[in-house]
Amino acid sequence: MVTINPSFYSIRQLIELDACTRCGECRIWCPTFAEKPSLEAITPFKKIDSLRSFLRRQHGLLAKLMRRTALSPEELTTFAQGVYDCTLCARCYQVCPVGIEMRSLWIAMREQLVDLELHPPLMNRLRDTVTTHYNISGDPNENRLGWTANLASVPEGLDRKQNAEVVYFMGCVAAFYPMVYSVPQSLVALLSKAGVDYTTMGGDEYCCGFPLVIAGMGKHAREMMRHNIETVRSLGAKKLVAACPSCYHTWKHEYPHLIGEPLGFEVLHETEFLADLIAQGAFDLKPVEKKVTYHDPCDLGRTSGVYEEPRQIITAIPGVSFVEMKDHHEYALCCGGGGDVEMADAEVSAAVARRRLGQAQETGADFIITACQQCKRTLLGAARKEKVRIRTLDVSELLWESVQ
Ligand code: SF4
Ligand code: SF4
Repeated sequence: MVTINPSFYSIRQLIELDACTRCGECRIWCPTFAEKPSLEAITPFKKIDSLRSFLRRQHGLLAKLMRRTALSPEELTTFAQGVYDCTLCARCYQVCPVGIEMRSLWIAMREQLVDLELHPPLMNRLRDTVTTHYNISGDPNENRLGWTANLASVPEGLDRKQNAEVVYFMGCVAAFYPMVYSVPQSLVALLSKAGVDYTTMGGDEYCCGFPLVIAGMGKHAREMMRHNIETVRSLGAKKLVAACPSCYHTWKHEYPHLIGEPLGFEVLHETEFLADLIAQGAFDLKPVEKKVTYHDPCDLGRTSGVYEEPRQIITAIPGVSFVEMKDHHEYALCCGGGGDVEMADAEVSAAVARRRLGQAQETGADFIITACQQCKRTLLGAARKEKVRIRTLDVSELLWESVQ
């Protein structure tokens, strides 16, 4: 008999299951349910309801007095589908009136499903790729600086320079997906222009572990995480700057928790670092005549609380006309590229991206500015597929256009 194990959940999470008032607010705001309304199991409300029911049937008083109830393969399969058809955007948490911390609950559910081997099989391929190659693409990890190949000149000290003040953590998407090579290229151009003393971990940079953590396979990421911390410490940097919000979130919130002590260096997102450089007058900003809107990446905004720095950078550039989309800041719609949902359900991922593109089009902007290479990759891919004439740029690319 398949048994749900309560030890996958914290005491707080078990209490939160009973705190849900079934108000249905999360159902209205869930972007994946909006695209697949035939599957009630996607809704936050239903996921909570199912888990609560499973636990009661197997560990409640009646189960103890009489016997545990078997869970049918159909209900387990439907539950698993709902849990993995989720971008982990945390919009549900944002609107929940009782403040149920749902994102960590969804990850705990995924860990439980991995333990029961009820997760999507593609996740095993992701786990094997990342733990063998130390990146999500399966390329040789020594090629992390492949995006420098077509630079006019490779910045001095880019590869594992000792005692540089800043380590730029590239992230797997920027390092291995040519579609977004322009993001690391723009960022290092800006750092060089501002005279920042920086380096990278080169081929010693391993995946930050985030894709495995959110797949429910976090235990397979721990060794890589420790390796990354040790590498930055051995380089002697004072700051780590990440352009990927998921890497940033993982470094800032998961890593100290993993090792049980402060990292010994500061962790910043590129937007925090660049906004500070602008405030210090590090750049001579020239006009860029563009109408733009801004897409808040979920792991930068909702889960890390960084909303204003990207907007400060955009609005500091003369000539830029900035307009918000219908859903922005805490209520921003996800791009569809999070939560490993592209692997679990590519159609849902694409549909969410289409909806976000539609919101951007409604503003009349010609460019969507974001601060995440995965958001850029997802929105660019969707725009090409839908033949939508709106371009997506990382905030570093827009800034470089003004500076160069
Ligand atoms: S995290 Fe986002 S996609 Fe997942 S259930 Fe909540 S609102 Fe829906
Ligand atoms: S918003 Fe919160 S309280 Fe309301 S149904 Fe969703 S989880 Fe339950």
